[in-house]
Amino acid sequence: MLLAVLLLLGLFVYRLSEQFGIERMRDAASHQLDILAAAIDSEVTRHASIPSAIELNPDILALLRAPADQQGSRQGAANHFLQKLNDHLGGPAIFVLDTGGRVLASSDWIFSDNLLGSDLSYMPFFRDAVQGTPARHYAIDPARQEPGYYFALPVRDEKQDWRVIGVAVVKSGLRELERRWLAQEAPALIVDSNDLVLLASPPEWRYATLRPKERTMLDQIGRQQFAGQRLGELSLDIDLSGASEGTLVRLPKHLRGDLQALRGERQYLALARHLPGTAWRIVVFSDLRPVGVQAATHAALGIAAFGCMLLGVLYARQRRRLARGREEARALLERASHELERKVEERTADLSEAVSGLQREVVERQRAEQTLRAAQDELVQAAKLAVLGQMATGITHELSQPLGAIRALAANAVEFMRRGDMATTEKNMAIVEQLIEQMGSIIGQLKTFARKSPAVYSAVDVAQAVEGALFLFDVRLKRENVTVDRHVEHGVWIAWCDRNRLQQVLVNLIGNALDAMQGEAVRRLGFSVDKASSGQLALAVTDSGCGFTEEALAHLFEPFFTTKQPGEGLGLGLTISRDILRDFGGDLLAGPAPGGGARFVVLLPPLLAEHRKQTT
Ligand code: ADP
Repeated sequence: MLLAVLLLLGLFVYRLSEQFGIERMRDAASHQLDILAAAIDSEVTRHASIPSAIELNPDILALLRAPADQQGSRQGAANHFLQKLNDHLGGPAIFVLDTGGRVLASSDWIFSDNLLGSDLSYMPFFRDAVQGTPARHYAIDPARQEPGYYFALPVRDEKQDWRVIGVAVVKSGLRELERRWLAQEAPALIVDSNDLVLLASPPEWRYATLRPKERTMLDQIGRQQFAGQRLGELSLDIDLSGASEGTLVRLPKHLRGDLQALRGERQYLALARHLPGTAWRIVVFSDLRPVGVQAATHAALGIAAFGCMLLGVLYARQRRRLARGREEARALLERASHELERKVEERTADLSEAVSGLQREVVERQRAEQTLRAAQDELVQAAKLAVLGQMATGITHELSQPLGAIRALAANAVEFMRRGDMATTEKNMAIVEQLIEQMGSIIGQLKTFARKSPAVYSAVDVAQAVEGALFLFDVRLKRENVTVDRHVEHGVWIAWCDRNRLQQVLVNLIGNALDAMQGEAVRRLGFSVDKASSGQLALAVTDSGCGFTEEALAHLFEPFFTTKQPGEGLGLGLTISRDILRDFGGDLLAGPAPGGGARFVVLLPPLLAEHRKQTT
């Protein structure tokens, strides 16, 4: 659509510019016509009044009045007069005809090719003039083949009742006019009343007709007016009916070239004007090509200007749209950011609620953990007491033996003192002291073991812990004839844990091992320590007992799993032991021993530099 609008605009501008151009061209052509008309007027019509002067000359009148036989004597004076007049005017020829059309006197009488005696009765101007009407015509002088414009006036005799007695003729030469005409750059024509071209630039068009004419008529005119010149060979084929206002016609492109071939090649503005006082029309042709070029330029400029304007408008619109888009985007962004803020606030509120919920949960968990720990401590304590209960018989035996010995030694000492044997008394008392010390240490160990205490971490010598546990089973080991292999060096394997609880674990393991070995012939209990690949201390406790059944191995660490008789075991020992060790950061593993029997591995965290720092 835009393209169509642009094209229409271009067409409109083209037409407008063309119209203005043609208008201007018409003005210029009109001006040119003025100049040409003035030139023709000065060349041709300035002689129009001369024939009336001839009429007044007595010599001429005398010549015309004289009968034919006396005319010869009067001819001389008349010729002289005409010659003088002609010299004065600088014109080409002045002559007088009798009513028969014969030249009686002529200004050119001195030249050999003068007109004297020639018959011009066929000339149209003569025919008109002899009838009594002044006439003017273009014609070609037959003697010299010279074109001219003839003004003819009837000469009347007042003495003979104003009868026409002859015709006075002035011929205006057209040479100067012709010269000027050919100098014309733009094509220009002089056309007579018969549409015959009398003068033309280009000269090839001379004697052409505007429109094709009948041959006979042309031949007749040619004979009468053009000294037998062949007319109308060429028809320009242009219609000048509206040319007084200016009309568009087509003319051959190369005016001097082959006319037929190039007919109608180029468009011209033809402007014609009637010459006052003559039957002539002057026509000038103005080439419309520059107008066309100018109009095309204007159209292109118009289109370009409109295009620029349109681009400008589009640019402005685009800018506005962009600005609007930016504004919308900004508003959208603002809205989105508000929404985001709102959501963030909501989320923050949710989060802080969740955080406080979490905090509450943490507190609850901590409380639960505390409760659990307390319960675990209670359980540990209960398990310890259970072990103590199981060991009670052994311990009683352990204590009753020295107690009995002390009683006997004390009685003996009294007896020895009474006898005055102070040395034996002293010896007995020393043994008593030793026994009491032994009992004290047993009770001390028991006290330490039974003490209910929260886990306290310290550097624990594994060998000492093993010794402490074994000490509690001292009596049973001896009674049941158990060989104990200790491959645990003192002061080498130091673990980071709670001494009391580690001892509880060992007591539990030793107790189970002794239970498992009860029916066996060979009873060996072994302890060895090594460093595990994880860096932990691995204390292996092996026995030569019955070992595990597959089912027992699968459920060993489950609470209340026991193969013992009711009242002998609760099935909590291994569960609690493993929990204690895991609390330390260690573990408890079970498996078969190489020579049959069971093997438990106690994994313990080793003492590290950071633990040392804690203790200091
Ligand atoms: P309890 O000793 O009260 O039965 P434990 O948890 O200490 O509970 O032991 C669970 C079970 O594991 C025992 O009943 C026993 O069957 C088995 N067990 C423990 N230690 C050994 C061992 N050294 N040799 C063979 N079986 C064992």
